[in-house]
Amino acid sequence: MLHETRRFPPPAELAADANVKADAYDEAATDRLGFWERAADRLDWTQRWDTTLEWNPPFAKWFIGGKLNVAYNCVDRHVEAGRGDKIAYYWEGEPGDTREITYGDLLTEVSKAANALTELGVGKGDRVAIYMPMIPELPIAMLACARIGAIHSVVFGGFSADALRGRINDGTAKLVITADGGYRRGAPNALKPTVDEAVVDCPSIEKVLVVRRTGQEVDTHDRDVWWHEIVDRQSEVHKPEPHDAEDPLFILYTSGTTAKPKGILHTTGGYLTQVAWTHNAVFDLKPDTDVYWCSADIGWVTGHSYIVYGPLANGATSVMYEGTPDSPHRGRWWEVIQKYGVTIFYTAPTAIRTFMKWGQDIPAQFDLSSLRILGSVGEPINPEAYVWYREHIGGDRCPVVDTWWQTETGSIMISPLPGVAEGKPGAAMRPLPGITADVVDDQAVSVPNGGGGFLVIREPWPSMLRTIWGDDERYKDTYWSRFEGMYFPGDGAKRDEDGDLWLLGRVDDVMLVSGHNISTTEVESALVSHPKVAEAAVVGALDPVTGQAIVAFTILRGDVEGGDELVKELRDHVAKTLGPIAKPRQIHVVAELPKTRSGKIMRRLLRDIADNRSLGDVSTLTDSSVMQLIAAQLPTAKSED
Ligand code: ATP
Ligand code: MG
Repeated sequence: MLHETRRFPPPAELAADANVKADAYDEAATDRLGFWERAADRLDWTQRWDTTLEWNPPFAKWFIGGKLNVAYNCVDRHVEAGRGDKIAYYWEGEPGDTREITYGDLLTEVSKAANALTELGVGKGDRVAIYMPMIPELPIAMLACARIGAIHSVVFGGFSADALRGRINDGTAKLVITADGGYRRGAPNALKPTVDEAVVDCPSIEKVLVVRRTGQEVDTHDRDVWWHEIVDRQSEVHKPEPHDAEDPLFILYTSGTTAKPKGILHTTGGYLTQVAWTHNAVFDLKPDTDVYWCSADIGWVTGHSYIVYGPLANGATSVMYEGTPDSPHRGRWWEVIQKYGVTIFYTAPTAIRTFMKWGQDIPAQFDLSSLRILGSVGEPINPEAYVWYREHIGGDRCPVVDTWWQTETGSIMISPLPGVAEGKPGAAMRPLPGITADVVDDQAVSVPNGGGGFLVIREPWPSMLRTIWGDDERYKDTYWSRFEGMYFPGDGAKRDEDGDLWLLGRVDDVMLVSGHNISTTEVESALVSHPKVAEAAVVGALDPVTGQAIVAFTILRGDVEGGDELVKELRDHVAKTLGPIAKPRQIHVVAELPKTRSGKIMRRLLRDIADNRSLGDVSTLTDSSVMQLIAAQLPTAKSED
């Protein structure tokens, strides 16, 4: 229903010099496995594979017989190639303290940490839970696990003791690596007490390894070991053993937007192949000149793939920032970009919409002229946010790449290539070379251009999840049962007249109003295209007349005041933009929306509120008080014709 005509061709220079050009699509279409073999050859293998793909649906194995060490590929090989002095991370602590970590430093630190893990009795195949702030010891701990073949399970540092305990027990981890705390919003934020509370009921945990970051006082227990006491005295030499391409690399739990989080299992060879290839292609990374920054937290998949494994495999120089965007002031991110001369910036629509709400005069105070490419991930980016991002952050010259993927896919699957595609605000465009994505109807038939339906992936890809940890049945049910022989990610999509893809949000969120399927994403985009609206979340509430009725929750921009007049204006605006069928029954003006820790709106909770049900699982919510706040606001915010 949404009509978007703005187009942004790639800058000529970028197009001419792009790492990956249009011919890659044909190359991969002609010989998909050959294409992925060449991508795998960008890595260093101790032993080359003999079979590229073994596909026993829905179980895939890639690069069978191949052996490699992920940490060696991310660290040692760059040092051996003479780039030991190159910066791997410019780390910026929230209070303003900084560390520069070269590839040489990383090799030393990862080797010592790997030796320490071995001393602590951690070996190949053991699970290690990591619950840390955004400090350099976090990627170091992950790489140390990868190096020895232990399986890391990173749990976002803001989760509760319950959430941490559940994940530790699901993976039966032997060790937790944590810190006394980290800095958030200008203050030390303790982590260790949460770990202490969690591990009381974690029988598999033998030790807790603690990094000192804030100097906060911590309770000590027999199981505790200080990082500086054990890691610092280790040898700086550690020989990386080759691991099988199908040995597990990590477990990561999905963000829990739709249901109970799932422990997604990734393996080494295929995962590293595709994260490295996509990081090089989608961000057009020039490792000698670019300074790359992904603002995500390493606790979710974007951080795993595009702060740790992809950039390091490619020998990139990255920025890593510990804290929140508003600390000590709302221009902190732009200050970081100015300070380090960031050229590639990757963030989420939720952050962009927050910056829109704070106002464009904030980024305008900083020199952002180093930027050349902008990325977006996590949710559909509505056209207004895309254009704002391009204009106010990208100086109207940087292409925006909207990257669709999931914890399960491991790497980016659908995205424009910045030197190839003409950007369309709101569209994720085409599947990347080597990926066969399609949009099908409920009979599994491809929809024509102009049609909408279910996004599916037709062929296995190297960085696909191998299963849900310990639950092959749930793996089959969740992803492979809806459409025979196809991977179903749970998202809806449409294919426009040019054949380009637009993500429409989760199919569970699609509303059925008087017999019409209406996507929450489109109504949200229409609301955010109104100059007074900063954010919107839309759900279908039970309605005796129309089956479902559209209920919207909106956050207003800057100093805009709510009220009945505005609500009417917004309802009319949606009706005018999308048609009268999409006019919301109610619009509630709220101060906050319920979001997961990765910044995604939890529509299922808003649906519970709209239908007056008791709330479902809230364990992955950033701030559970938000739900009470919204519920308390409802009666007064109600407006009906
Ligand atoms: P759970 O599966 O537990 O409900 P989740 O799906 O939020 O959690 P993630 O794997 O972090 O966990 O998120 C992946 C989902 O995020 C995708 O399935 C999609 O719905 C959404 N998404 C990510 N990137 C984009 C994008 N560029 N455009 C549209 N949607 C996106
Ligand atoms: Mg999901």
